[in-house]
Amino acid sequence: METKIKPDKTLVSVCGLFCYSCGIYTATQANDIVNLQRIADRTKIPFAEIKCNGCRSETLTAYCKNCYMRKCAGEKGIDFCGECEEYPCSHIKDFQSRMPHRAELWKSQERIKEIGWEKWFNEMTEYFSCAECGALNGWYDFKCRKCGNMPGNDFVKNNLEQLKSAFN
Ligand SMILES: [Zn+2]
Repeated sequence: METKIKPDKTLVSVCGLFCYSCGIYTATQANDIVNLQRIADRTKIPFAEIKCNGCRSETLTAYCKNCYMRKCAGEKGIDFCGECEEYPCSHIKDFQSRMPHRAELWKSQERIKEIGWEKWFNEMTEYFSCAECGALNGWYDFKCRKCGNMPGNDFVKNNLEQLKSAFN
């Protein structure tokens, strides 16, 4: 029942996030204007700069466009922060601590190093899929978008209390 998506490096961020689990990415792909507007209001990112096609794409949401790690890795010619001599630097530590959906960044960096980003990508598609219907859900999908099952995926299950704190 798992969702089959071909590994795509565009959707694997330098810092170790899986773009498919990001609400901005999925709302952009679905052209969900209402949701994009809601996210723009909440994040104070201008609507014209909200759309995102993934970390390594040409169209990035303003927040990710200005990402320190992305620029830094580009300058150093590395693909992932975990390859860097300075890892984990103060920039990624600070970034990781700011939002609960970044709870597993360290684990992801380790795993990418261990098995490569393609296999990690496959693990993530499974990890973020609904146990009931197989639909891919995001970091904050406490309920499956398709069938309503709770939680929407194992990531939510494993980080539930932390994730809920983002809405307090
Ligand atoms: Zn479901």
